[in-house]
Amino acid sequence: MTYEVVIGLEVHAQLLTESKMFCGCGTRFGLPPNTQTCPVCLGMPGTLPVINRKAVEMAIRTGLALHCTIRTNNRFARKNYFYPDLPKGYQISQYEAPICENGFIEIAVGGGTKRVRIRRAHLEEDAGKSIHEGLAGGSRGASLVDLNRAGTPLLEIVTEPDMRSPDEVVAYLKALRDILVYLEVCDGNMEQGSLRCEPNLSLRPAGQQRLGTKVELKNINSFRFVKDALEYEIKRQTKVLNEGGKIDQETRLWDAEKGETVTMRSKEEAHDYRYFPDPDLVPLNISQEWIEELRATLPELPAGRRQRFIEEYGLPEYDASVLTSSKPLADYFEACVKLYNQPKTVSNWVMGELLRELNNSGTPVTASPVSPERLVSLLQLVDKGTISLKAAREIFPELYASQKTAEQIVKEKGLEQVSDEATLENVVDEVLARSQAQVAQYRSGKEAVFGFFVGQVMKATGGKANPGKVNELLKRKLVG
Ligand SMILES: [Zn+2]
Repeated sequence: MTYEVVIGLEVHAQLLTESKMFCGCGTRFGLPPNTQTCPVCLGMPGTLPVINRKAVEMAIRTGLALHCTIRTNNRFARKNYFYPDLPKGYQISQYEAPICENGFIEIAVGGGTKRVRIRRAHLEEDAGKSIHEGLAGGSRGASLVDLNRAGTPLLEIVTEPDMRSPDEVVAYLKALRDILVYLEVCDGNMEQGSLRCEPNLSLRPAGQQRLGTKVELKNINSFRFVKDALEYEIKRQTKVLNEGGKIDQETRLWDAEKGETVTMRSKEEAHDYRYFPDPDLVPLNISQEWIEELRATLPELPAGRRQRFIEEYGLPEYDASVLTSSKPLADYFEACVKLYNQPKTVSNWVMGELLRELNNSGTPVTASPVSPERLVSLLQLVDKGTISLKAAREIFPELYASQKTAEQIVKEKGLEQVSDEATLENVVDEVLARSQAQVAQYRSGKEAVFGFFVGQVMKATGGKANPGKVNELLKRKLVG
């Protein structure tokens, strides 16, 4: 039996506000436990939440970038459940009335594009963190709770079940992360949990309309794990179905070390949470003017920038995709092109030499030791004929590792090209004088001998002769 894979995705994006969703506490990552808390986010009786305007703005801007409709009459609801890291005993979220609805993201699939529909995106607050292991001083089997994260604003973005393979999920996630990072509403860091994804996956016999029973996956914190977890789950469900078994609707955890998913809990339904409108919060009314004001602040988004790179700089689609895959990289590229208007050359160097060094040292492009100015100065040395392209490639790692200028390194290594016409002419004359047999061959039509002359000139100059000039001189002399 062949099965069709059906995948939908919930993504929690932590919004880059300075304060929490309903109180003034800070949101910085990695501070000592429980130092960013107050009576509101600790859920003390008698305290009242106040909506963070900045978080609402970020939600609206994201919704607009995702082609969503923005709801003008919003309400917050209480989602009730008990967990030690949830001090109030409920999470403030949006239920029937999410702030954004009915959008989409376009992803690249097999040479074409595909639309993944966004069902909704809603605002909510995060819970705290339970710490079960790795405690300093020995925890003796105790668990501790850190409420620094409790109340941090989240935007939960939910798709329709439109994806048909793990690769499509990864493409969607990358596209979404790019948009969030471009908008500066989320830092997109999966390892630190500022972008968390929970795919749900089901199988159905090919051709069947009705959806199969879905399983939700949690605890995934990298693009690789998303792919691994989904591939594992497809195999597991296929096996169960082929053996005549039934899929249980449940939530499973990805165990990256074992490379398998394990049952976490059976699936809860919305009614288990006893949602009801939060009486502490007045309805949030958003004016059309505010939406339009925010629409005007939207930056150029990845898809638009990619298209512009193709049209404005004449780059191949591949280059444009790589260069716009992150905003800082695209900014770096454009800073170079401003100084040196040869986009394709710059693109080759950024995608090749620069990205190689950055990846090898795990350095983000924003901290690149080779600034656009330094890269361009190297390329200009090639243009001026001071060094060969090959020499420029040799120099690059040192340019990256040291603070020396390209000129300094060229001098130290004695890599200057010989371009001086008189000097080269002497060498060419010598080579031809001692290669009478080959000269005769060439003149009788054996043009392949040309490479021999170039090789001899290069040898005589220690490889430093400017190849363009050498070719030019040889051709002139051999004809004469
Ligand atoms: Zn607080």
